[in-house]
Amino acid sequence: MPAHAPLRLYYERLLAAYGAQQWWPAETAFEVLVGAVLTQNTAWTSVERSIANLKAANALSLDALPALPEETLRTFIRPSGFMQRKAATLQALCLWLQQTYQGSLSSAAEQPTPLLRRQLLAIRGIGPETADSILLYALGHPVFVVDEYLRRVLTRHALAEANASYDALQTLAEQAFANDNASTHAAHYNEFHALIVETGKRHCRRRPSCDKCPLQEFLPEA
Ligand code: SF4
Repeated sequence: MPAHAPLRLYYERLLAAYGAQQWWPAETAFEVLVGAVLTQNTAWTSVERSIANLKAANALSLDALPALPEETLRTFIRPSGFMQRKAATLQALCLWLQQTYQGSLSSAAEQPTPLLRRQLLAIRGIGPETADSILLYALGHPVFVVDEYLRRVLTRHALAEANASYDALQTLAEQAFANDNASTHAAHYNEFHALIVETGKRHCRRRPSCDKCPLQEFLPEA
């Protein structure tokens, strides 16, 4: 296997090893949106506890969540940490949807990707990874979500510099599917990101366990 196997092979190898990941783990697009904010700097298990709190209070909807007193919202999302900042971001996100798209996620989804991305990035507390998670998993737009797991895999395989920009890593990942029909891009980006996260959790941790990793054969010899 060449030292720099095409990234597309990584995708195929991971899909064969782990199977389809069926992301995003949520019942509604609004739940995806909320989860994308809550998962910043925290483990998904913590997000699940926050989401469960919101569901138990019937507050996981665009009508109910912004109506919560801020203190109550913070209490519900406490398991995810950074509750003050995340509560403010969730409120701002809801306000954006209500004021710009009359509370309709499907109306938002019809807008061009660059416009939506600009609008999302203008909301305090939303960076590129969260914006792209919302674009891809809540709104179905073809943008690849870059996270620390992807950075770690690409760096360890000498496919990117450790300090490569978000945009550079995103372009690298998206190029893996450049020869496919554009209508399949969102589905492929969805799956590949989920598979990379799975790789990071199972094998490519701070101390990597390469011997059992499906990507081991792609490691550069040096
Ligand atoms: S665990 Fe090892 S083989 Fe797997 S992705 Fe990380 S560096 Fe590569």
